[in-house]
Amino acid sequence: MIVMKFGGTSVESAEAIERVSKIVGSRIKQSPLVVVSAMAKVTDQLVAMGNTAVTGDGSEALASVEALRERHQETAKTLLGEKRAAALAPKLHAQFLDLENFVRGLAAVRELTPRGSDYLLSFGELLSSLIVADAFLVRGVQAAWVDSRECLVTDTTHTRAVPLMEETREKSKKKIVPLLAKKRIPVMGGFIAASADGIPTTLGRGGSDYSAAIMGAALNADKIEIWTDVEGMMTTDPRLCSGARTIKQISFNEAAELAYFGAKVLHPLTLLPAIHKNIPVYVLNSRNLKSTGTEITAQSPPSRDVFRAITAKKGVSIVNVVASRGVGVHGFLRSVFEAMDRHAASVDIVAISEVSMSFTIETKRLGEALIRDLEQIADVNVDNDQAVICLVGEDIHGKPGIAASVFNTVAEAQVNIRMISQGASEINISFVVKEDDVPRVVRHLHDHFFKAHARPAGNSAKKKNGVRINGTKRLRKGTENGKSPLRRALAAAI
Ligand code: ADP
Ligand code: ASP
Ligand code: MG
Repeated sequence: MIVMKFGGTSVESAEAIERVSKIVGSRIKQSPLVVVSAMAKVTDQLVAMGNTAVTGDGSEALASVEALRERHQETAKTLLGEKRAAALAPKLHAQFLDLENFVRGLAAVRELTPRGSDYLLSFGELLSSLIVADAFLVRGVQAAWVDSRECLVTDTTHTRAVPLMEETREKSKKKIVPLLAKKRIPVMGGFIAASADGIPTTLGRGGSDYSAAIMGAALNADKIEIWTDVEGMMTTDPRLCSGARTIKQISFNEAAELAYFGAKVLHPLTLLPAIHKNIPVYVLNSRNLKSTGTEITAQSPPSRDVFRAITAKKGVSIVNVVASRGVGVHGFLRSVFEAMDRHAASVDIVAISEVSMSFTIETKRLGEALIRDLEQIADVNVDNDQAVICLVGEDIHGKPGIAASVFNTVAEAQVNIRMISQGASEINISFVVKEDDVPRVVRHLHDHFFKAHARPAGNSAKKKNGVRINGTKRLRKGTENGKSPLRRALAAAI
């Protein structure tokens, strides 16, 4: 069997769902399990609705519920026709009734707990999956809607719950295997799950990718397909840099590093279950059925570029903790790390000197309580609006001069670096800049490490565009000085 996951933009409208139904129809022989996100922007709207309700503006929040109802009903009507949509209406209505009651409750108590937030956000995927399953049936794809909360079991870390694999395996096998045996196509919402007691949880924003991988690992899938709105994993976010190119093949380690450091195309934890079971993952474009996308496997052929890709993770804070002189280094560091542990603070980059320590953390995860705790140990100051830039490539290991080349390029972009890290994973170089500098620094780095070296000397622009650098295709011979892009980059760096 295979797992096919379709993201928000892939199910954003009747037209998009129609395309999804064709894609799934073309894979029937492979016994797909389909995982869908909420329709595009719906989760953001549910978040906004919750915020409005807790300010006490119940009527505005209820107006948002109505807008959501209309969008889903209209999509269902277009996809299913009046009669069939009327048959689905009671199921959608039951969801909207629950949502409406919850929003009224929020407006009354004016408090949204993490547990309440998971319940609120679960409606997006419940609604989309119900519509997609019916749309499949109408088009002759024998779908069966499955309630994700009855398959995917997590702990109770609300808003970013941790899957319990053993329990998930057991429940999924019971629910899904009999359906597959009857040649039915299970359709379920991603992102949402439930605790062992049946309390709704979510896997964190963007978590449908993770759901797909968890289900793939639980059911020993042959492959996991992540269908999205770009051609695959790219050399950088195409929204930041129009020259971004699709990566044909990439290793689990490299892709996991890219996802962790901000490549939004995959939820940061997606690859862990796949790595554990050695299941290949494909990132594909749902708007281009012919796309071959990106193949992510344990090993990939060496890249012809120095790096595989560049990512930027925004919304980061630098926390500087400075001890007063006379405090023992050992005790100081221990106290700081203990404070991080107490608050389950997940830090990205750490720099240490004798009496100070700086670390980066996602701003949304930097709670007041952690800062107060650190202030008991030393002086603390925080710089918000920072970003971690990360360059990833398995081939950089043991090659001299690459860091120099990176930092020269950043200097050429006239961007100031706040912190630097290399070595932890041996496949990345990361550093911190101000958030505002992200587009400039990413474009400069991309031009330097991808575009510039892809250009065969003396060829016309048309030919230049025809050259495929990454992946399996060979580079055109006769590059500048007769050197490969990799060797040229290294030579420039030394
Ligand atoms: P979905 O709704 O399908 O889950 P997302 O919006 O979560 O889609 O992820 C796809 C987006 O990720 C792309 O539109 C792109 O802007 C962004 N992205 C960031 N970095 C990369 C990258 N390295 N390769 C491809 N896409 C990227
Ligand atoms: N709908 C959820 C979100 O927007 C999960 C996902 O799209 O993967 O975060
Ligand atoms: Mg996503």
